Amino acid sequence: MDIFLIRANLPRNMIENSMFEEEPDVVDLAKDSAAFPTFPALDPDEVVYEPRSSRLLVRGLGENELDEEEEDYESSARLLGMSFMNRSSAHRPSSSPYTRQAPPRSCSRPSARTMVVCVLFLVIVASMTMVLYFLPGCTFTRTGCPKSNSTTPIDPAYPNSTNGELFPWTELRLPASIRPLHYDLTLNPDLKTMTFTGHTVISMSVQHNTKRIVLHSAELNITKATFQLDDGKPSDVTVLEYKPRQQIAVKFTEELKAGQHLVLTLDYSANLSHNYDGFYNSSHTDKNGVKSVLAATQFEPLAARKAFPCFDEPAFKATFLVKISRESGYMTLSNMPKAKTTELPSGLLLDEFEKSSVNMSTYLVAFIVANFTSISENVSDTLVSVYSVPDKKEHTRFALKTASKLLQFYNNFFDKTYSLKKLDLVAIPDFLAGAMENWGLITFRETSLLVGNNSSRLEQQLVASVIAHELAHQWFGNLVTMSWWNDLWLNEGFATYMQYMSLQREFPELDTDNLFLAMRFRALAKDALNSSHPVIVKVDTAEQVLEMFDSVSYEKGASILLMLNASLPGEQFRKGIIEYLRKFSGLNTVTEDLWNSLTQVTPQHQSVSEMMKSWMLQKGFPLITVSRSKGQVTLTQEHFLLTADNTTRSSSLWHIPVTYVNDSCSLEPECKQLFTLKTASGTLKLPDNVKWLKLNYRNTGFYIVHYGDEGWKALIDALNQNISVLTHEDRASLIHNMFALSRLGRVTFRQVLSLLNYISNETDTAPVTEALSQLTTIYKLLDKRQELGLVARMKAYILNRFDSLICKQTWGEELSASKQKLRSALLESACSLDHPYCVQNATELYKQYLESNRTKIPGDLQRLVFTVAARSDEGWVQVLQMYAHATYDAEKRKMLQALASTQDTRRIVWILKAVLNGETVQTQELPLVFSTVSNGFAGHLFTWNFIQENWNRLIEKFPVGSSAIQSIITSTTSQFSTQAHLDQVQGFFTSLKERGSQMRVVQEALETIRLNQCWMDRNLPAFRQWL
Ligand SMILES: [Zn+2]
Repeated sequence: MDIFLIRANLPRNMIENSMFEEEPDVVDLAKDSAAFPTFPALDPDEVVYEPRSSRLLVRGLGENELDEEEEDYESSARLLGMSFMNRSSAHRPSSSPYTRQAPPRSCSRPSARTMVVCVLFLVIVASMTMVLYFLPGCTFTRTGCPKSNSTTPIDPAYPNSTNGELFPWTELRLPASIRPLHYDLTLNPDLKTMTFTGHTVISMSVQHNTKRIVLHSAELNITKATFQLDDGKPSDVTVLEYKPRQQIAVKFTEELKAGQHLVLTLDYSANLSHNYDGFYNSSHTDKNGVKSVLAATQFEPLAARKAFPCFDEPAFKATFLVKISRESGYMTLSNMPKAKTTELPSGLLLDEFEKSSVNMSTYLVAFIVANFTSISENVSDTLVSVYSVPDKKEHTRFALKTASKLLQFYNNFFDKTYSLKKLDLVAIPDFLAGAMENWGLITFRETSLLVGNNSSRLEQQLVASVIAHELAHQWFGNLVTMSWWNDLWLNEGFATYMQYMSLQREFPELDTDNLFLAMRFRALAKDALNSSHPVIVKVDTAEQVLEMFDSVSYEKGASILLMLNASLPGEQFRKGIIEYLRKFSGLNTVTEDLWNSLTQVTPQHQSVSEMMKSWMLQKGFPLITVSRSKGQVTLTQEHFLLTADNTTRSSSLWHIPVTYVNDSCSLEPECKQLFTLKTASGTLKLPDNVKWLKLNYRNTGFYIVHYGDEGWKALIDALNQNISVLTHEDRASLIHNMFALSRLGRVTFRQVLSLLNYISNETDTAPVTEALSQLTTIYKLLDKRQELGLVARMKAYILNRFDSLICKQTWGEELSASKQKLRSALLESACSLDHPYCVQNATELYKQYLESNRTKIPGDLQRLVFTVAARSDEGWVQVLQMYAHATYDAEKRKMLQALASTQDTRRIVWILKAVLNGETVQTQELPLVFSTVSNGFAGHLFTWNFIQENWNRLIEKFPVGSSAIQSIITSTTSQFSTQAHLDQVQGFFTSLKERGSQMRVVQEALETIRLNQCWMDRNLPAFRQWL
């Protein structure tokens, strides 16, 4: 899945960090296992299905994360249902593993009083045990000793099903005793009543003897169920449902035996979803104002169960045969090519697709009923097609060309041809994520697939990025799949890395290198927080599954793969990947499998795993401090952790492939030298005449460097003399690192300004956009803090620094993606800060655009021009009218951002309500509208009030933990920097309880406010002095 679009417009987190968590020690998988919740002894078939070592790894990890244990109690209790919750609270002594315990600070002998209490306790327990044992008729079972006057035996381990019977399973993960082999799915959607019926036949094999089948189902009304054992006769069975865990079960009196073959047939009915997951409805209105409806699916991660009963975990792969009925005016699509169409007695048509030729995880199944049109071409033996609503057919060409070229690239790069005969890319009018990699049927938001014939390079860059990401998933994710969501980075980190790598090779004109660099800076910002998490982390609840779709899985995952690739010689990375895909084709894996494959192809089998464990199993990243004494350079590493109280307690160490260049050779890859730092410090030799040293060549490593006062001064002097002594990535990296160190309190704001002195001579995109982004963030914080004097001074500072570059920008068509990015970033900042040249040119361009049908606004300047226009009453209304009639979605989105950037508070309220209600503005745009409104001075308090007042409606549309909710919370709270706002935010989220208080993003928001507060308090005097 690509969540690029949701996050792309978020403000970069300014300052980050913690207030609640204690810093966990370096993760030790084996430690403290006794501290984990213990459940009643398990039957053999109660082992959940986790092929290979994933479970051990994940659970082990969580044991040290004290804060998560606290959350776990709440969520586990909720998931396990009331009866279990009562049991656990009744039996929960003070030493319960669920209760957060402060780690003992030192070892001490128990006091005499403690000893007496312990002995008494043991005597009482022993006495009670004997009494119970000798009670007549009482046997020890998992249910304990039933009361003699009780008529119904109570099994407290099992929750109640909806019909009152005990539900025979207590875990979130399904039992491993039954494995699905094949699904036969028939779906009958009715687009008039927005309902559907389904008929699912699941063939299964018994892995271990068991008396139950447990699988997933959510919001489905099961009307009939039959069961067949081997060649026996089918018979009706009762299906039990336990809604809190979205599970259903069939219980048997006789044991099903390992090796037996089962068929479960289920008929059901349901409503088409009104949200963005499951089998959901969508609509579009054509040029003539005619509205038509359609139905599409979005299953990842937990919503296949909303369309058909299934074993909805990634490791339960099976084959699928899909049949869908439709009216004659519609067409249907699914993962496989269509096999045949038959007419039903009702007059409807039934499309039957080929049985899938590959084993698929349920989250990759997809089907669509719509009236789309398409264009196609053949690539090797695959038919590639791009589908859209008929009006937008002309916008599909770029996508087809791009997908075809990338498919060929991946076929070669992975040395494994794409598995299916067809590949459809479909633009869906209502779609929340950027795109979804369903095997053979990739679905997209319209803005991430469709571009006009005269689109800007930046629009093409976005579409190509999303396509490259989803195509990479056809191998990484679809062909080889993570066993469980804790290893989600194997899918998402990889697809994100491949998207940049493939575009760099196949579409260098799109300049995605700068995009990737900015992404790595974003990943560092998130991971510097105490509320961040290791790449591989315990995932035990539905909300935690959704929360895995975050910056760490995608952006840090991709950054670490880049670092690994850069540290391996030649083609070793690619060879390792080819080996991994070959070995695990069609199977599920854990992270270690990838490292083993990479190790296998390195000379002398040098362990990749050893290095990567330090990056995967600990949160955060290192800060390397450089100190130089004559010919010797000492590098020390520590955890780069932003804390509000300025203390860093973690003893984490990383295995860092440190790269460096110096003044004698600094630009070409051959200049790069490598030093491996595994311990807290290390030394390297350097000739005395070396003037300066720059670490992290081209910023391919996931760490930050502090050069010390002298080291920084030498670099700044060098840049002031000649900016070309370093690559543009290295210059951007210095700017990024300097601001980061300022947040950490290691450099003064004066040093930051001293580095930025050189920027007047800077003309490259990456350093300019990085400096602008950092300065704008500070500007916004001062603005929201109502430090009006400083706001004016910061504004003058920014405009002054970039004035000559702003005035050099042209306003006509610009072909280079890099220059478009530079121009749009510069001018958007300039106009938002009222730079007269910028505002005047934007106003003039808009006027020409209105007066003449022939004047086009270049794509990269549209948002800026519309935003300036929408500042006036008349302009805002005009842009709104254009928005209502525009059909080209990329343009429409820019108009929407212009409308949302208004400073008129009544219009702000109107647009917030419009997007929530889905009237005029699609609800899928809510995260974008919220982040745009929150950026403005007038709107940021409105969005905060709005989410408090409308929280229940928001989580109806976007589930707790989802990327959309994460984005909404971050954009609404990340600019607060006062105690009053900290208290408000804390109070509100605490009051939500199970409706969102336990989300990681809430901790992140609170940390960010606290850090903003500290950073402001520390730096306001410096601003007053130096700005
Ligand atoms: Zn993805």
